[in-house]
Amino acid sequence: MAETIENGPKIPFPRKRVTKAVAREELALLEAAYPDAVTELTYDSPFTLLIAVVLSAQCTDARVNLTTPHLFAKYPTPAALGSAAQDDVEAIVKSCGFFRTKAKNIIAAAAAIATQHDGEVPRDRDALEALPGVGRKTASVVMSVVFEDAAFAVDTHVFRVSKRLGLTLGTTPLAVERDVVKLVAEDKLRHAHHWLILHGRAICKAQSPQCSRCPVATICPSAPIVRRVSAKRHAKKKRSVVKVVSLGTQMRARINR
Ligand code: SF4
Repeated sequence: MAETIENGPKIPFPRKRVTKAVAREELALLEAAYPDAVTELTYDSPFTLLIAVVLSAQCTDARVNLTTPHLFAKYPTPAALGSAAQDDVEAIVKSCGFFRTKAKNIIAAAAAIATQHDGEVPRDRDALEALPGVGRKTASVVMSVVFEDAAFAVDTHVFRVSKRLGLTLGTTPLAVERDVVKLVAEDKLRHAHHWLILHGRAICKAQSPQCSRCPVATICPSAPIVRRVSAKRHAKKKRSVVKVVSLGTQMRARINR
């Protein structure tokens, strides 16, 4: 599996894992780079975080943070949201994308919390994952952020950055989680998700990783891969420019005949 670089060839993931010592050093550097890493979603209770995380699938945290104040002003409790009209919730969450499915899921999840869990978000993973729209990643975020449990959520950024750092060769979020969990002390596990997610958003971007300003660049196995891909991309761009200039010259020559 590989990420694509803008207008150019793919960036393959490393084929070998780094040693445990290098992996731990990479993680320590990220911890130092993002010492106060916390979720960027706005929430004031387990319930509001759970709903925000469900809404954040395929959507930015900033967009969700603009949406949830309206949602919770109108439906502040699981019981209120659980009995809301689908059309009304759809209208509120429309800008978060996949709004029909998300509206349906958050109404059903809120209803389940209200009726099956006395209005409280369950702390147990199995009970969380039994809620509509809640998968392993959402459950892990809720467990680690609000309950401060040792859970590690793997989203698209965490998946990509873990693989680029050579922490794992896993090809599924669960496989990546299992490998990374072995490298992080239990008391730091709930923070590790944030180190990787913030790094993925700010520097190790999917299409254009900025290795030149990355604190891990000297030991990251993807840094030379990114350099090679960037060189290929620039060469390709140069060839395209030469082709366009040459076509332009030929056109002018024909016109001036
Ligand atoms: S060196 Fe480059 S590929 Fe490696 S983590 Fe940093 S930005 Fe990502």
